[in-house]
Formats: sequence, C-alpha cells, structure tokens
Amino acid sequence: MSLRKPIHFTISDTRDIIGIDLGTTNSLVGAVDAGFPILFADSSGSRITPSVVYYPAEGEAREPLVGSAAMRMRAVEPGRTITSVKRLMGRRNVPAEEAAMFPCPLTPAADGLRLQISDATALSPEDVSATILGRLRAIAEEALEKEITRAVITVPAYFNDAQRSATKRAGELAGLTVERILNEPTAAALAYGLDKLGEHSKVAVYDLGGGTFDISILELSDGVFQVLSTAGDTRLGGDDIDRALASYLLKQANVDEQTAAPEIHAKLLDAAIRAKHSLSYANEYTVNVPFLTGSESFECTVTQAQLAALAMPIVDRTRSLCHRAISDSKLELTEIDRVVLVGGSTRMPVVREIAAEIFGQEPDISQNPDEAVALGAVIQGGILSGKTQNVILLDVTPLSLGIETFGGLMNIILPRNTTIPAKAGELFTNAVAGQEAMKIRVLQGEREMAKDNWELGQFEIQFESGPKGHARVGVEFSIDANGILTVLGRDTKTHKDEILQIDHAAVDVNDEAVEAMISESIDYAFDDMNERVWTEAKMKSDELLPAVDNALAQVGDLLTSEDIATVRAAAEAVRAALETHDARQLKEANQNLDTATEHMAALLVEKAMEESLKRKGIL
Ligand code: AMP
Repeated sequence: MSLRKPIHFTISDTRDIIGIDLGTTNSLVGAVDAGFPILFADSSGSRITPSVVYYPAEGEAREPLVGSAAMRMRAVEPGRTITSVKRLMGRRNVPAEEAAMFPCPLTPAADGLRLQISDATALSPEDVSATILGRLRAIAEEALEKEITRAVITVPAYFNDAQRSATKRAGELAGLTVERILNEPTAAALAYGLDKLGEHSKVAVYDLGGGTFDISILELSDGVFQVLSTAGDTRLGGDDIDRALASYLLKQANVDEQTAAPEIHAKLLDAAIRAKHSLSYANEYTVNVPFLTGSESFECTVTQAQLAALAMPIVDRTRSLCHRAISDSKLELTEIDRVVLVGGSTRMPVVREIAAEIFGQEPDISQNPDEAVALGAVIQGGILSGKTQNVILLDVTPLSLGIETFGGLMNIILPRNTTIPAKAGELFTNAVAGQEAMKIRVLQGEREMAKDNWELGQFEIQFESGPKGHARVGVEFSIDANGILTVLGRDTKTHKDEILQIDHAAVDVNDEAVEAMISESIDYAFDDMNERVWTEAKMKSDELLPAVDNALAQVGDLLTSEDIATVRAAAEAVRAALETHDARQLKEANQNLDTATEHMAALLVEKAMEESLKRKGIL
C-alpha cells in the first residue's frame, strides 16, 4: 500500500527545515518563513491536525485519510481508523489493557508491533506515523510552495532510544531527513522566548496535556539551553479531569455509573469537556443535554470552584513530580527564575494556581499552550537551517545507562539527566584468571543490581587469556544529538573494537515502565543499596579467604599460636557472616579479618623480599 501521494515541485530550497509536534492526539507543523516562525493551517484553515489515520479497504483505490477526515470515518469504520499510535512507537509489547484501547488487534513482528487492520494489512507504528508526517509535510509544502525534505520532530522527554529511533524512522519513511529529535519541554521553552532571559537563568516548563504530564528544569548559559532534569507521568492529564467531571454529572443526573448505557457515558463526557473548556474563562456553565435518558433531558450548573474541587486531587499529583525534578536539578526552589505553562490543560485556573503554589511564583502564560511545542520545533528548525541564530538546545538522558559488572552489579557510565550529546567511558578488567572474553550487557535503569534494569543489547569482547586483572577493556558510550546510543568495546592491547548501535532495537519497555523504574528505584533504594554492599562485601570475602589460607600455609610457622588462632577466628567469622546475608555484618567481618592479618601480611612481604634478595645472590 502506498502511504503517501508523491508531490512534485520544480523549485527546491534545501535550506528549509520544518518543525513538527507529532502528538498523541494532535499534530502541528510550521517553519521559519521570512524570518518569523509560523504554524501552517491546512486547506480548511485549521492549524491542528488530529493524529488519526483511516485506511480504506484493500480493494479501494483511495489513499489513507489523515486528520479530521479520518476522525469522521471513526464512527463508520472504527477498526480501520488508528488513533494514539504514538503510544506504540518503538515498543515490542504492550499490556493487554492498553492493547484493548486500539481499534484493531496488535500482533508481534520481529522488529516490533503491527496494527493488524485486516488479514492482508499489517502496519507498523512507524508506517502510521509516517502517514501523519506525510500529511504534515504536504501541508508545509502547500504553504511554502516548495518541496520539503528536512524536519525537526519533537518527542516526550521520557522517550527512550528505541522510541526516538522509531520516530526518526517514521520521518524517513515520509521522505524527511530528521535533522533533530527534540524534547517537547525543551521546544516549549524556546517558544516562550526564554533565550531572551539573562545569563544562567533557570526555568521550569510545566506541561499538562490531555493524557500526559511533563516537568523540566532548564538553565540558560551563553545562549545555550541545558536541560538540568525532567520528570513526568504518562497517565496524567486533562482526560482524567474530563472523567471526574463526567462522573459528577452522572451523579447529578441520578444515573447509575455502573449500569449506564455507553451512549449516556459518551454524551456526558462530551458535555463535561465542553463545560471544562468554558470554565477556564467563565465562572459558571450550564450543562444541557437534550434527551439524555430517552425523553428526559438533563440540565445542571457547574461553577469554576466546583470543577476546581473535582480537578484538585488530579492536578495535585503533579506536585511530587515537580519536587523530584527540582531536587534532581540540584537547584533550590528560589533559584528558578521563570515557570512556563504548556499543554491545553494549563488553561484551567486551578492548574495555574497549583503551578504557582508549587513554584512559589506566578507562571508565565504569555504563549498559546497548545502551540508552544510546535513553535519551538519550528524555531529549532530555523536555527539548524541558519535562519535563526544564537540558541542551541541540549537535551538529557531520561534514565541512566551502563553495563553489568562482576557480581551482577549495575555500573553506570552515563547517569540519568546527562546532557546530550554526551560521551563517557571506563576501563574494565578480567575478574577471573584464564578468562578469554568479556560480555558487555548494555543496561538502562536506576536500580543497583543489573537484573533489575533493562537490557538494551549485548556483545562480547575477546582478549588474550591471562591472570586475573590482566586484560584491559575500554567501554565507551556515546549518544548523539538525537538520543541514539552507540556502545564501543575495545581490547586496548590489540585495539580490536566491537560496536553496538542501539538505534533500531525496539526495546521491550513501555512509557509507564520508565516512570515505574524511577519510582521503584526510590522504593527499593534501601534494599538495593544493601544488595550492592552485600555483593561487594561477598566479592571481597571470596578474595580474602583463599588468600588467608594461602598465607597461613606459607608463613604460619613464623606466627605465634595466639596470632594463628586470632586469624582463624576472624576467617571463621567471615564464613559465618557469609551465611547470614547481612551486608553490614559481612563488611565488618572482612574489616576484622583485614586487621587480624596485618602482621601476617607484613611477614609475607618480608618473606618475599628475602627470597628475591636470595635469588639475586645478595643474601
Ligand atoms: P494538549 O495535549 O496539549 O493538546 O492538551 C489537550 C488537553 O487540554 C485536553 O485535555 C483538553 O481538554 C485540554 N484543554 C484544551 N483547551 C482547554 C481549555 N480551554 N480549558 C481546559 N482544558 C483545555
């Protein structure tokens, strides 16, 4: 199936880079034109394109429909109308309840998921996103009257490597070279013109949309934005407020929520959304639903204060996430110079109040919150094409990246919230004698033990066999400006390299799991730390005990029986501690054994010296 109608133009200006906000529900496109960033409207005058695609039946010689035209087909052919495809990008599995939100079955394929819209047609999430991007590209081409081949596309800050790569691939399928994958809150900051703030200004971007919440703390220095930290929740937004208000209306209408027909739910949800939007500007709104239950109509007045009370517990969930982002940024609350609001839900007065309360200052509401992300993408496109200057954006890694080391521990190479592009490396050695290869397991996550983090990939580095600690293997992680990770392993003796690129692997993780990972790392912080201390102590015991036996055999005759008994007792205490799984006890026992063997260790050194001098004929 052809996904996009080719458009031929004779004029081509390769400098133009369009900016795209590829949203879960809605998408927008624009470019810097005649020096100004603008968002383009389609032929019906709308700047917002619903992220919806309708695929006609196989026999029909029609192209897929995108946007409002596709939305209209939803009621007629729901199984062929795809919405919220962004939630599937770069994912291999989704939980059953999430899969049930899609109108057609999701089937697994070697490189990810497929939307099975019929027996004959299975589409990847990239295919569907490419169709949306193709439509946005066409809107831009019509507005600019030239062919467009380059784009900046925004993604949520919590997107992992696989999700970023999938977005980039979707752009390529739509005939676009993706010059930059940009974090949404970072784009929004640009749109608010924060680059005009003074040196070292710190800003918070509070983004509450329909289904997701994101908070980012940024710093401006030398005209460059740095993302200091991000946090968020992919299941928190205006949709929750709609449901709370709809449920309140059901009660007012004396309708039992459990047994009410789906049409009643749908009608009251629609009414709730309309009421919510109006109550952002009016103090009072009268909900009026004709023939809600058969012949009976429903009317009820809702005040802004009533809506605020219903929304409060939902919006309040942003508080702890903001506190986490502030703490991760290592800033004091009072150091934040500006708070900007992004996302349609920030039009609600209660949201503005809570944001003001969290940050202790009035937020900046000077921009249209629905368009800020797209506008930022446009400005970034302008910067990259040389049409706008002075600001470069730097994003951060949403989770820590590292490798597994001996004992099953996570060894972090690039910590969470590292500004990208970034490069870092470490040198490793063989843990046991005679080892000929080292397995490099690339991990992502915040837990202390490798097994609790996610594996992004693995490869092996071969080296010459030798005694313990003989090999030298360098491991280097580099992430490019699009968040794509390359891991290089090098045997520094032979200079042989192995390279692993994590851009095309759809990792078996989902958006919620990113948040779950961060909160688990907090919940299990104590246990994890205990496990790490235990593992490290156990590795030390495993080294110490044979060394002590060996030393006793060599220099035991030079020690008093009391000394020997002390050493043996200390070694026994280590063996006993090994049975307990008590990290503190084992650490202490190791330390005591170290102290108890000090004299013996000195004798060993003396003996070795003596032997060496004898060999050289000095003694
Ligand atoms: P976004 O994901 O940024 O497009 O935001 C979409 C969310 O913003 C939806 O939950 C909308 O109901 C909500 N929204 C849009 N306009 C308003 C408004 N005037 N008042 C309150 N919420 C709004």
